[in-house]
Amino acid sequence: MRAWFFLVLLLPLPAQAGAVMKSTKPWSNATVPYQLSADILKTAYTQSKDCTGWAKWKASPAHKACKAMNDWHRRTGVRFVARDGLGSVQIYLNPHATSATVGQLPIGNQVNIQPGANYGSILHEFGHTLGLAHEHQRADRATYLNLQPFLQTYLETCGMKLDTVCNDVRSAFPEREMRLTSDYDPCSLMHYLANQGPRHKEDPRWSRIFTLTTKGKAAEKACLPQFAKLEKRCRKIVQKCAISDRDAWTVRRFHGLE
Ligand SMILES: [Zn+2]
Repeated sequence: MRAWFFLVLLLPLPAQAGAVMKSTKPWSNATVPYQLSADILKTAYTQSKDCTGWAKWKASPAHKACKAMNDWHRRTGVRFVARDGLGSVQIYLNPHATSATVGQLPIGNQVNIQPGANYGSILHEFGHTLGLAHEHQRADRATYLNLQPFLQTYLETCGMKLDTVCNDVRSAFPEREMRLTSDYDPCSLMHYLANQGPRHKEDPRWSRIFTLTTKGKAAEKACLPQFAKLEKRCRKIVQKCAISDRDAWTVRRFHGLE
């Protein structure tokens, strides 16, 4: 898989770094050009060609995409500017996948949003746009996580198999070499959930992907207070609600803003 076109898939039910992979490039001048597709703009019933006026739009994929860019901007200082062209992040409505390319690519930057995608998933995808990898793919994860045996087996046996599960395992679970990391962050928006509806519905083992080690539990206890004011579903490890302090720090540092 060519690193410059590394698509990270987020399946509908699941998931959730302060970590940046070695091959990932930051956005020049800490500015991300974006273009909303006609399809996605239609979901907000707007005449606008970009995010201008988004706060007044009806709840829709376009509204969530613009809100997500605004949230990342407020937390990191990175700017999103509407601009057409090959180098811009193309934001599409996609019936099949909610996904994003990672960091700045010369061409082919995109965010795909499923019509029913929740806000946390979309915020997560824009984290990839800003260069963040999955926290649980850090090379030091074994200090903090115990992967369930079935997942470890997949990692060892998938090889080049092309079935859906192996494609997902290869893209979202191997350890990756990172160029920039914060302390390990179980509270990251970029960490997958430990417990959830099964990521692959036909196999209930996928409802529990890992457990925390003693050090993982200590890291969780230390990071959770930042979410004290959020609703209950967000006050837990690997939440899927908000940009964590370390997520924001990593993006700022990666773009020379820290
Ligand atoms: Zn992801």
